[in-house]
Amino acid sequence: KKKLLIDEEEYIREIRSGSRLHLAKAITFIESTVSDQQVIGQRLLKQLLPYTGNSIRIGITGVPGAGKSTFIEAFGKMLCDQGYKVAVLAIDPSSSLTGGSILGDKTRMEELAKNPRAFIRPSPSAGTLGGVHKKSRETMLLCEAAGYDVILVETVGVGQSETIVRGMVDFFLLLALTGAGDELQGMKKGIMELADAIVVNKADGANEKLAKKTVAEYKQILHFLAPSTPNWTTPALAVSSLYKKGLDVVWNTILSFQKSMLENSVWENRRKEQTVDWYKTMIIDRLYDDFFSSIEKKQSMKELEQLVRGEQMTVSQAVDELFSSNSKQ
Ligand code: GDP
Repeated sequence: KKKLLIDEEEYIREIRSGSRLHLAKAITFIESTVSDQQVIGQRLLKQLLPYTGNSIRIGITGVPGAGKSTFIEAFGKMLCDQGYKVAVLAIDPSSSLTGGSILGDKTRMEELAKNPRAFIRPSPSAGTLGGVHKKSRETMLLCEAAGYDVILVETVGVGQSETIVRGMVDFFLLLALTGAGDELQGMKKGIMELADAIVVNKADGANEKLAKKTVAEYKQILHFLAPSTPNWTTPALAVSSLYKKGLDVVWNTILSFQKSMLENSVWENRRKEQTVDWYKTMIIDRLYDDFFSSIEKKQSMKELEQLVRGEQMTVSQAVDELFSSNSKQ
């Protein structure tokens, strides 16, 4: 078998000096389902690991139509104008389940994509949400090594994706809509408890007044919820992504969050815990994959299922049998 070879030193050098092309290629190695390529991806990541960890990692969630891509484009451009390098990643639960996409295709955030200080990577489409999650984490690390100061991880409020993103970022932002009444009732309290800020979007024109009212309502509710981060009072803010109003307040909120969390070590501790959680999740994923990818195990699982169905064996006996025959193989 022909071995895939790349000039690793050149990759590291190019990525470190800001080549978006090499960064994109390295991410493709990481995301690959071909084992040779995965190995290269891991080798690159390992060499780049010493240069990771220096960004602010921000998760952004909200229902479809909340204005996530409009917000990220405006917010990202503002940060680029201030001299920051900004990377945007997406975790799209739909693409792994159905092949479709809730977050949309690559045509989103066109202007930001053209900015030389920005890097936009759409959601990897293959694999389980767990697998996508692992790849997105590694992509995030590569972006940090490439010198991106701010990593924006976008997701949509479906199933597990919000918890997954919360587990990989420093700051989690919920983008919400005005007209709190219905939305607040429908919104899971759990999502609000994950947030470090609730940002009510579309606070412009005829909607501005309502946005202020919505912010006040959120503040009231937040008062009764546990904060997502210890020693932090989750604020509610109003912005207009379309007219670029209030975006600087969001950024200042994030900076002051960073400052106090660095001071009380919550920042560092959370990142360490996230890495350990990631490690544990990967062990479980690996066990699961190994188990279900074995043809023999699949076969005995089927046979035992028949015995369980016919009440010739108890469920516990069948499971014991399945694992004892596995260990012999
Ligand atoms: P996403 O599905 O959450 O990514 O939402 P989009 O960014 O695609 O926005 C959905 C719609 O809301 C689009 O038509 C946007 O132009 C509009 N929109 C987004 N932000 C604002 C805003 O701040 N004000 C107003 N008036 N419209 C906005």
